[in-house]
Amino acid sequence: MFQLRDVRHAYNGVDALQIRDWLAEQGEHWLVLGPSGSGKTTLLHILAGILKPSYGEVIVAGNSLGKLKTSQLGRFRGRHIGIVLQRLHLLGSLTVAQNLLMAQFFSGLGENLGRVHEVLEDLGLRHKADAYPHELSFGQAQRVAVARAVVNRPTLLLADEPTSNLDDAHCMQTLDLLEAQARACNATLMIATHDQRIKARFRNQFILDRQP
Ligand code: ADP
Repeated sequence: MFQLRDVRHAYNGVDALQIRDWLAEQGEHWLVLGPSGSGKTTLLHILAGILKPSYGEVIVAGNSLGKLKTSQLGRFRGRHIGIVLQRLHLLGSLTVAQNLLMAQFFSGLGENLGRVHEVLEDLGLRHKADAYPHELSFGQAQRVAVARAVVNRPTLLLADEPTSNLDDAHCMQTLDLLEAQARACNATLMIATHDQRIKARFRNQFILDRQP
């Protein structure tokens, strides 16, 4: 679950985001819709604890993020939050399996090769475990990014514009994948997008206007 209470963020004094109250229950799937510049990435970074809002309270999995020390926040993020960013940020010098092992290492949960192989199998990537990111197609690389986001069974799974560069068939496949993985972990899923194709698919929608 997550809750935002009177959250506001401004960059250099210019308002970028304002949310009065928003509660997403555990296991719910949410779509955040808004045009470019409406604050989607800002919101995603705030929920992931990457960005501290100028004002307000952010609660994820029962923890108020503002009350966690910087040293606790990294580990909290590793354990509770899976994030798929627009740029996939796979480490090119590590294999697919090593990219996932690294996510386990930084969460402090300990490495578990069995779980890594389980997730790769689930996403049809078992045969790519020893491949390097440059040896993957974009679709495969995106699935590795999803695998890395879910390997620690997150409480909250966040995706930033996961479908914007995809054709219709791959767009729906990517959503299927994110929803299936979120269900498998009983994670709350939040997808931020300006892609109107996927609007009809989600009952829970949060609309961001360009100007808060
Ligand atoms: P979206 O993801 O919906 O495109 P963003 O969250 O990236 O929106 O941006 C919201 C607003 O905040 C925009 O007006 C953008 O220009 C501004 N903004 C985003 N990041 C920064 C930053 N690091 N410094 C200054 N302004 C920023």
